[in-house]
Amino acid sequence: MTLTEWHRFIEEALAKAAFENAGQEAKWLLESVRNQSIILNPTVVPSPEEEVVIEEWLRRRLKGEPLSRLRGIREFWSLPFQLNAHTLDPRPETETIVEGVLKWVGDQKAKPWRILDLGTGSGCLLISLLHELPQAIGIGVDIQEEAVTMAQSNALRNGVNTRATFCQGSWGEGVEGPFDIIVSNPPYIPRHEEETLERGVRLFDPALALFGGEDGMTCYRELTSPINALLAPQGCVFLEIGQGQRPDVETLFQGAGFKTLTVIQDLAGIERVLGFGLRICPNVSSPT
Ligand code: GLN
Repeated sequence: MTLTEWHRFIEEALAKAAFENAGQEAKWLLESVRNQSIILNPTVVPSPEEEVVIEEWLRRRLKGEPLSRLRGIREFWSLPFQLNAHTLDPRPETETIVEGVLKWVGDQKAKPWRILDLGTGSGCLLISLLHELPQAIGIGVDIQEEAVTMAQSNALRNGVNTRATFCQGSWGEGVEGPFDIIVSNPPYIPRHEEETLERGVRLFDPALALFGGEDGMTCYRELTSPINALLAPQGCVFLEIGQGQRPDVETLFQGAGFKTLTVIQDLAGIERVLGFGLRICPNVSSPT
């Protein structure tokens, strides 16, 4: 079959299974397998090996597996990141953290910033930041060894491996501060919302990276103390939050010695990132 015929076949199969953008999806799937435009090459016939992959990907896509997982690669901050079963598929809204950090850094991009990424997953946050801040160094921590390995290889793929260290641990365990910038996109979905998640998320993103206990707040509660210990006095921690979580997370952090430095909305206008600094007690002047 030619690419055009394959396209029609895949589109019909996806449409029959009630996929919304069947035509567009069929195009992405074919182009991901062939790395070639189907519009420019309509009469090309895929090789038998490619046909095996096309059929396999279609079968998996019909079961709801996202295309990024089929390809094994996802673009984040215009950089390629490889994924595995233990890494969350990076979301566009998480780029809001990168934007927030760059805004906070302002014209001081060339400073030797020290960055910590808690729950690094694919490494997308730390690696994107090191890519933008040429003198920065950073540590990414993840509880999953398989995520640590993936993040290391993504750092290499994106040319920042000499400035990035990844280690296995629970949040800040075994890490020495202070850090000017701490970032984290912790799991924050309340467990009871599991049934409401899209199939591609529910079945293929690692549960450990999605759910923050019954109320979605468990990880924020765990994070206040390591962040308090590891953040530099003038530093800023940028945390991703779920829709509507600002009051709870702000109350929690303000009660744990932090002040809110910034609140950033994502492209959909949802409050997505909170930036906190340490609330330093004013110096008590010594008696004369
Ligand atoms: N932002 C992801 C989602 O909405 C969840 C990941 C997280 O909890 N940080 O699917």
